[in-house]
Amino acid sequence: MNEYDSDYLAQSLINYGLSAVDNPNNADIILINTCTVRAKPQQKALSMLGRISAIKKRRPELIFCIAGCLAQEMGVRLFERFPDLDLIMGPRDIGKFYEILDSLITGRKKVIITDTGSAPPDPVRCSGFFNGRISGNISIMVGCDNFCSYCIVPYVRGREISRFPDAILSEARNMISAGIKEITLLGQNVNSYFWNKETNFPSLLHKMGTLDGLYRVRFTTSHPKDMSDELIKCFGEKESILCPHIHLPFQAGSNRVLEKMRRGYTREKYMDLVYRLREVEPDIAITSDVMVGFPGESSSDFELTLDLIKKVQFDSLFSFKYSDRDGTLASKMDNKVDESEKVLRLGILQDLQKQITLGKNRSLEGKKMSVLVEGISRKGGYPNFSGRTASNKVVNFSCDSNMIGHLVNVEIKEGMNNSLKGEIIL
Ligand code: SF4
Repeated sequence: MNEYDSDYLAQSLINYGLSAVDNPNNADIILINTCTVRAKPQQKALSMLGRISAIKKRRPELIFCIAGCLAQEMGVRLFERFPDLDLIMGPRDIGKFYEILDSLITGRKKVIITDTGSAPPDPVRCSGFFNGRISGNISIMVGCDNFCSYCIVPYVRGREISRFPDAILSEARNMISAGIKEITLLGQNVNSYFWNKETNFPSLLHKMGTLDGLYRVRFTTSHPKDMSDELIKCFGEKESILCPHIHLPFQAGSNRVLEKMRRGYTREKYMDLVYRLREVEPDIAITSDVMVGFPGESSSDFELTLDLIKKVQFDSLFSFKYSDRDGTLASKMDNKVDESEKVLRLGILQDLQKQITLGKNRSLEGKKMSVLVEGISRKGGYPNFSGRTASNKVVNFSCDSNMIGHLVNVEIKEGMNNSLKGEIIL
């Protein structure tokens, strides 16, 4: 979501007549888009603000801005800590950035705007911005109404609002005309997307499937409690461009912890969803988020998390240590787990998942898979190109640059920890 917001802000800056520079020391405007979902990104953002403050001290004409969830959470306190800041802007206000730029550039006034009730912005049109990209993101809704007890998102991104479907489709057409072949629909909880009786999330997926030139559609993130039968069925539809991959955060394997987290489902309900998804699409890749060390998490609760991981056999996992977020219910709970215990549990969990991911990747050796060629491999060297399977696995292989943006068939030769190696089948 932050990448999408950053793209939006970058397009606003370009439309204003500005262009990107490689070095912050040469910039006229620096805008830092921030995340505060865990303590670590917050610390990173604060240290970056310190570094930019030092540049601003040397060059007072620099316009220094912060956007995103940390801006929303800390608000005016950021002016106290970083008096050189010119703009503090919450994530719901990015649609106003273009207008604000005027007062920043011409009026040199400090601005703070943190209105969590703002409607989602209309897409900006910045000619050429997506050229050369194969995949793109579209936000279909903003905010979250769930208030999981550990999570700060509903406080900083406000209540859920779904976007007008025609605006989403028009944004998609614009991306497709720039060469984008794969679109990921974004939201904190996409499966609660609702516009009217005729347009819920599954029907939006069907509409995306009618767009000429689009090869694949994905979505993230979905909440297990809102996973409908109608959405599960979408994965079984033949000729659909919906990719066989779902990111379905489970967070914990113990019902006692899930209840304290206010997640609204049990481990049994989660396992049933996994069963039903695999029933309609046996090859579906399932990835998830999990947290260790939630307040009061005992070693037997943690064992239940490991047990769920073993039973589900996720393709990959994003795993984190719990950290207190100010203002959330969990931050006020007793029985916090020691940091050293959290580190230990995270290590055990990650080792387990590493084995499972490797096993899953190795099981693909010898299979022929359709891969969307994205570009030159990030690792460089041989094989020189990379792309992703519909199940979202990264594959490295050799091919010509004129194949970028095309679907090719690749035979998987080797499954590794984080990626696959293959050979193109001509
Ligand atoms: S569903 Fe829960 S974890 Fe996800 S953004 Fe909303 S409150 Fe946070």
